Amino acid sequence: MQEKCGVVGISLPDRNAARPLYYALYALQHRGQESAGIVTHDGFQQHEHVEMGLVGDAFDESSLSALNGSNGIGHTRYPTAGGVNECCAQPFSVSFKSGSLGLAHNGNLVNAGDVREELASLGHAFTSNGDTEVIAHDLARNLLEADLVRAINSTMNRIHGSYSLTIMHDETVLGVRDPQGNRPLVLGELEDGYVLASESAAIDTLDGDLIRDVRPGELVVLHPEGTGYDSYRLVDREHTAHCFFEHVYFARPDSVIDDRLVYDVRRTLGRQLWNESGIETDVVMPIPDSGRAFASGYAEAAGEDGAATEFAEGLMKNRYVGRTFIMPTQNERERAVRLKLNPIKSTIEDRSVTVIDDSIVRGTTSTQLVALLRDAGAESVHVRIGSPPILAPCYLGIDMATREELIASNKTVAEIEEDIGADSLAYLSVDAITTALDRESTDLCLGCVTGEYPYDIDGEGLDRNVSRPVTDDPAGADD
Ligand code: AMP
Repeated sequence: MQEKCGVVGISLPDRNAARPLYYALYALQHRGQESAGIVTHDGFQQHEHVEMGLVGDAFDESSLSALNGSNGIGHTRYPTAGGVNECCAQPFSVSFKSGSLGLAHNGNLVNAGDVREELASLGHAFTSNGDTEVIAHDLARNLLEADLVRAINSTMNRIHGSYSLTIMHDETVLGVRDPQGNRPLVLGELEDGYVLASESAAIDTLDGDLIRDVRPGELVVLHPEGTGYDSYRLVDREHTAHCFFEHVYFARPDSVIDDRLVYDVRRTLGRQLWNESGIETDVVMPIPDSGRAFASGYAEAAGEDGAATEFAEGLMKNRYVGRTFIMPTQNERERAVRLKLNPIKSTIEDRSVTVIDDSIVRGTTSTQLVALLRDAGAESVHVRIGSPPILAPCYLGIDMATREELIASNKTVAEIEEDIGADSLAYLSVDAITTALDRESTDLCLGCVTGEYPYDIDGEGLDRNVSRPVTDDPAGADD
């Protein structure tokens, strides 16, 4: 099951971790709106509060003050199309023979079924159909036979797929990133402790400093006294498989992921969009908020080329309407677009318009918007998209849509242009993505735009990596 989420872990010397965890979860709210949870440890026992809903609704004064302990982890969970999953709210916690475990997971395992079956045959009883419980059981079992680092090493060699995890073993907080670094995870320093989080914006919120990305295949163990951390590079792969879509859509623009400020990447992509398919119109406008950075880069490059294109806001967003994907039916999704965006007539009326967004998934947003802009008096509507056509599903942690639902899975750009009713439509090239991220395509996961996955998914793709443990003795810390 896809776990499209935000994770955090904090160790402090002498104050409760619950409040900073709560603030960090607020900073990661965009990564998941279905449920929120925190697990802390006070040196004697684990405390847990997990609720459905947004971070602000899931906690109150009394639930936060009951979360004792200066070490803890937290999680926000993304909604899946078709309904809520109360079973899978996280962190997942268990107590077992050699202690307590809490787990927060962002990503998606591709062999969870096999591992689950094997563990079930050994007598493990599962309470949910989530991947996270599979990881927790495998780790709990390994911890009966090995120390923490060796146990994690064994689990990393057993599970395949994407995972950024924050884990709590008794009062020790750990961060683990899968060997290909598909989902982001960063390490930061606070005035009085250390933090692991999906995105650096969470560290900023706590007035901390980003130290670096957790490396692919790395385990980071925070000292429970909040005094430092140890790093173990447990699995090394020839190639990484960083998700490019984090940079295009999912992550906050103010986050730094794999050494790149997301906002700068989006602006660079916008500039390249102009270079590849720019068209001079009276006005260029973003679809708020997802198209904003792309549109500003596009308009800047257009201006440098002498195009007399004004950059303006032509659509106002109702910020109280959630992401349209929360709507389970197509009808509701269409209504949501109209609820969410309203045109500013003076920007649009009697003018040729370029409208920019990051991506087209099902085509709902662009179809609705082209009609909306025409109703508002646009002379012509040109659509520019800051990513290549999304033609295949994501199996690695982003809730995209099924192949049948993806408008680009069986249509050409010209057909999509006609479907959405635009005067012209252009997407960005895959090369623009690899150039902006300064990485080879073999070091990125581009599965949703190429159909070729860096993981072996039901025969969809080839696992291009050779797994090799970095060291035979994983117990020695790297730094
Ligand atoms: P659609 O309306 O189905 O074509 O979806 C495209 C819109 O949804 C764009 O405005 C994107 O910013 C946004 N979007 C792209 N990917 C996702 C996702 N995985 N979850 C929610 N929204 C998304």
